[in-house]
Amino acid sequence: MKVDHLQFQNYRNLADGFISPCEGVNIIYGKNAQGKTNIIEALWLFCGGHSFRTQSYRELIQFDKPFAKLDCRFYGQERSQTASIAIEPNRRVIKLNGVEKKTSAALIERFCAVVFSPENLSLIKRGPSERRNFIDSAICREKMRNALTLQKYNRLLKQRNALLKDLQRNEKLRETLSLWDEQLTTLGAEIVRQRLDFVKMITGKAAVYHEGISRGSEKLSLRYLSSFGAEEGDDRMTLKQKFQEKCAQNLQNEIFAGSTISGAHRDDIEILINGKNARFYASQGQQRSAVLSLKLAEAAVLRERMGENPVILFDDVLSELDNDRQDYLLNELRGCQVFITCCERSNKEQLNEGKIFFVENGRVEEIKK
Ligand code: ATP
Ligand code: MG
Repeated sequence: MKVDHLQFQNYRNLADGFISPCEGVNIIYGKNAQGKTNIIEALWLFCGGHSFRTQSYRELIQFDKPFAKLDCRFYGQERSQTASIAIEPNRRVIKLNGVEKKTSAALIERFCAVVFSPENLSLIKRGPSERRNFIDSAICREKMRNALTLQKYNRLLKQRNALLKDLQRNEKLRETLSLWDEQLTTLGAEIVRQRLDFVKMITGKAAVYHEGISRGSEKLSLRYLSSFGAEEGDDRMTLKQKFQEKCAQNLQNEIFAGSTISGAHRDDIEILINGKNARFYASQGQQRSAVLSLKLAEAAVLRERMGENPVILFDDVLSELDNDRQDYLLNELRGCQVFITCCERSNKEQLNEGKIFFVENGRVEEIKK
């Protein structure tokens, strides 16, 4: 997949204009606060109509303007296609190949991209929920059914927790608990099975990218940490059984705490570099490289599903990386279209092949090296 043309009108601080990127690496270069991330964000909107920075449409519209509009021509599914997003303060209108679409689902099916923004470093730096979200959004993207399973699981979990609180006062409710547990453990086993499969698949791919970025000096691996002893080779029945046993074992503590203390909602994914937990031991550059490798692995998974390479959107990835690592990202990601923002003059000089767009005060122009 590749973007041939992106046109923007009244979008954030960008002066009305367009870019015609190349099919390889496109550097978006400029000083701070000039509009680089705004371009990456505009491209990402075509992936499903949502920003990675805000939920508010109004923020996307240039100050004092009534609407914003983005038009994109891209090559995907072996043909040239168009998409447009008109953004008003309280709604957006999406068109695909000239036909208005009621929801953004149509965009998700046609336009595929992976984005890295510095906030993604929380995947390593913060607690387990960030890592669960990463895996869960990936398995949901893979199968719609997983999103429904997760939704049901979370609803049941809330109800079970409410029941545990009631049990503190009313012992008779114990029998009802087993009904909830039957459903919760079935759904939990299903989610964990899907996660284990995904972790296995993404580990191999991420390790290859990390080896490339670190020039062979580091080995990245992932390990699923289950709160009820789930293991790689377990089938759904075994997972359900283990989850049930843990619930029974924890019951007194759970009634006391008024919450479910083990399950899919308490699991974590350990990210290891050379066998050591990256959250605690990795340097800034190593943490960044690991998240980038995971994002590139996510792109590889998407490629298998969609049958074509997703567009790679890298916002501010180069800082904190040494020359070798920067060089890998700029010159060795073959076969896919990449957009990469940077502030350093040296980065644009490092690019062997590709296009450079200079952004100043919202104006974007292509420059020669
Ligand atoms: P940095 O290198 O610091 O990340 P950047 O070039 O990526 O900078 P952007 O995040 O793209 O900068 O933002 C550029 C400018 O856009 C900011 O100064 C911001 O105030 C401005 N801006 C954001 N939203 C709007 C809007 N709705 N209307 C006009 N300007 C806006
Ligand atoms: Mg920025």
